[in-house]
Amino acid sequence: MSDSEFDLVVIGSGPGGYVGAIRAAQLGLKTAVVEREHLGGICLNWGCIPTKALLRTADIYRNIQHAAGFGIKVDGSSVDLEATVKRSRQVAAQLSGGVSGLLKKNKVTVINGHGKLAGKGKVEVDDRAKSR
Ligand SMILES: Cc1cc2nc3c(=O)[nH]c(=O)nc-3n(C[C@H](O)[C@H](O)[C@H](O)COP(=O)(O)OP(=O)(O)OC[C@H]3O[C@@H](n4cnc5c(N)ncnc54)[C@H](O)[C@@H]3O)c2cc1C
Repeated sequence: MSDSEFDLVVIGSGPGGYVGAIRAAQLGLKTAVVEREHLGGICLNWGCIPTKALLRTADIYRNIQHAAGFGIKVDGSSVDLEATVKRSRQVAAQLSGGVSGLLKKNKVTVINGHGKLAGKGKVEVDDRAKSR
């Protein structure tokens, strides 16, 4: 993106960044978010959300192992690790897409790349760093 002017530029779109940017836009500031990887940051893409998706699989598997005690007979079960990880990645991608939708709805401009401060009131974005 060439030179653009904003009232506020947020570097990083984790739960801190995207929520702050949306609130700023709702309060009337022309706002941009700079993100070098995936919208939603660590929490949505690698931390809170995907790990809870993996834990859910473990939870279901444990329940199956104890099903007999609840009067349910299960003949054989095993964990398909590939499918488990695939589901976790799908959940993360879906929520990251949700953040994209929220930013768009609130008219926050998303700029892909590595942002750095470049003097008073200036942010430079290196878009070669995007989608690493
Ligand atoms: C495995 C794991 C599990 C977790 N589980 C939980 C949980 O269950 N509950 C909970 O509350 N917390 C959990 N956390 C912590 C949670 O992920 C963090 O507290 C949260 O992500 C912090 O949000 P943030 O917005 O500060 O930064 P981040 O989520 O780290 O987002 C920062 C974003 O900024 C981008 N960025 C950084 N520098 C630049 C730059 N110069 N230019 C452009 N973009 C940049 C990064 O690419 C990233 O997307 C977990 C963390 C991990 C690692």
